[in-house]
Amino acid sequence: MQRWRIGKSTVTRIEELMGPLFDPEQFFPAYDKDIIDKHRDWLFPNHMHESGRIIASMHSWLIETPHHKILVDSCIGNDKDRMPFRDWHAMQTPYLANFTQTGITPEQIDYVMCTHLHIDHVGWNTRLKGGQWVPTFPNAKYLFSRTEFEFWEQQRKQENPDQFNAVNNKTFDDSVLPIMHLAELIEGELDLIDDLLHIKPAPGHTPGSITLSLTDSNQEALFTGDICHHPIQVYAPEWNSAFCELPDQARETRREVLNYCCSGDVLMMPAHFGPGHAGHVIASNSGFAFSFIDGD
Ligand SMILES: [Zn+2]
Repeated sequence: MQRWRIGKSTVTRIEELMGPLFDPEQFFPAYDKDIIDKHRDWLFPNHMHESGRIIASMHSWLIETPHHKILVDSCIGNDKDRMPFRDWHAMQTPYLANFTQTGITPEQIDYVMCTHLHIDHVGWNTRLKGGQWVPTFPNAKYLFSRTEFEFWEQQRKQENPDQFNAVNNKTFDDSVLPIMHLAELIEGELDLIDDLLHIKPAPGHTPGSITLSLTDSNQEALFTGDICHHPIQVYAPEWNSAFCELPDQARETRREVLNYCCSGDVLMMPAHFGPGHAGHVIASNSGFAFSFIDGD
């Protein structure tokens, strides 16, 4: 289990699954084979599979500050009806066993922060118990943006949703609504817990996407959710995913966040990068490059 140190705080990666999940031509509408070819040396095998599919990791980040435990994003979850997305339907992964390997229990989590409310960021908010969806982290305050919640609440009311929204509606019902009595909806920027943690709007991928920054002893990590799904987007920041709701804004936010990480020596901790999962954005002649930093 990999762990990164930020001052006196630690960040641990909790894996749900990892593999060649997506066809890049479908995943990136602006896909350009020349760009992939230019980066083949480092893309294989950790970030691109020999089948040509891109590797994606589904993981949560567990932040332990001297006084609190915060989980960032909660993956896909077990037992959930996600048809027609067969790969994510009724999953049985060892996520909770992986979680307890950290030495802490779900009951000890103080905050669960979802960068946005897509299928793969809210799943473990709940688990199935006695036929009911109950909070996996019963003593936590669940944090996400009010804009995001209201967006998906509106989507939920649309008739004849497309396939992706239909699955996201199920997600809203089984992984968001059952924890609303524990939720706090965030508006604008917010300091959380003694200035160590700062939440900031980062709209584009979804209208209410947020980032979380952890600053401890002059070191900073930024939890960027799906602002970049794959490290190739650091080199091609104009590449959106097919799931970016507001394409122009997504590109603008991506550039802002990459600039922020680059200029401030900030450790970027995205939701889906393959090994080593986190790293520094560095300036290069053509724009940005990414330097992976392995955890201990
Ligand atoms: Zn995601």
